[in-house]
Amino acid sequence: MSDDVTPAPKPSSLPNGSPAQAPKRPKAIVLMSGGLDSTLAAKLLQEQGIEVLGVNFSTGFCTTDHKRATAKPGADPKKLRHEGLRAGADLGVPVEIVDLREDYLDVVFNPKHGYGAHMNPCVDCRAHMLKKAKAIMEREGADFVATGEVLGQRPMSQRKDTMRIVEKDSGLEGRLLRPLSAKRLKPTVPEQEGLVDREKLLGLQGRGRRKQMDLIEARGITDYPLPAGGCCFLTDEAYARKFRDKMAHRGQGRMDWDDVALLKIGRHFRLSPSLKLVVGRNEEENAFLERFAEGRVRFESPDVNGPVGLTDESLPSPDEERFCAAVLARYTDGKHAERVSVHVSGPGFERTHEVTPFWDEAVLGPMRV
Ligand code: SF4
Repeated sequence: MSDDVTPAPKPSSLPNGSPAQAPKRPKAIVLMSGGLDSTLAAKLLQEQGIEVLGVNFSTGFCTTDHKRATAKPGADPKKLRHEGLRAGADLGVPVEIVDLREDYLDVVFNPKHGYGAHMNPCVDCRAHMLKKAKAIMEREGADFVATGEVLGQRPMSQRKDTMRIVEKDSGLEGRLLRPLSAKRLKPTVPEQEGLVDREKLLGLQGRGRRKQMDLIEARGITDYPLPAGGCCFLTDEAYARKFRDKMAHRGQGRMDWDDVALLKIGRHFRLSPSLKLVVGRNEEENAFLERFAEGRVRFESPDVNGPVGLTDESLPSPDEERFCAAVLARYTDGKHAERVSVHVSGPGFERTHEVTPFWDEAVLGPMRV
């Protein structure tokens, strides 16, 4: 056998003989709702060779989560898809979904920085999410956290002063990058350390989205949800009114996630400080209400099409029960009939009332929440 064998190349090594290691690739945790801005923010970082882990927070007040929870079988899957996961798939990045509900009601009840136009504690909410993102950054050995926030896009949480508060309250000072507005903000630590090229970031400001749309579409991503707002029940005026009514009558300490869920659907009537009636408005809401029937009194007309009704907070007296049946009858196909049968069932009983649908708006109007 010949000795004339070319030796295999040695792995590159340092002068002390230990193998050289490739420089660590910077890593970012990106808050990914799946909307235009967060998708573009993640894409800009990826283009710099930064590894991205997407994080999608579920607060329990997200309207799209609710739509998914109440969808009829066979509903258009595109309308029900999880946009955070869809964006992750488009970008080829993993997305971790984080359920924030455990301590989120405390944020809603006692926001240090107050509410926006309705029950939305946006500054505290952002700080809360970013605190969780910081913990994920530490767990993952990532270098910083990034968001798709744009200076001046939202009146409460995307002003320069509140963006600074959020950064401070989350404990991410210097490690929170907003790639879409970075050039209008103080350089962050990853920019100063050269992990992120500031020159490749943007200096966007204001509510317009045209620029972001052009930039994302130029990168081949065209199927994203249109920025429409209204993705959080807490910013909805009608929801906030029902939420405040509930807080006033139940007290914060007794409100739970079933209360939060029931407020998302139906017509609500407050009959007394400790009794409400909730009436479904369509098939999906009726099906959703059924999930909460246990321990409550349920109303439905067996003979004509109509909604499901449930009492909430306490059990009704016999007079209140008949009144609820008459209110429910008004929303059935027998609303103009002389008498409508309403089947009532509750803990340990069931019976049927023959009632005249209740139309007196002078009485009912003030009960609407
Ligand atoms: S709208 Fe405000 S309260 Fe709702 S999720 Fe967004 S930041 Fe949080």
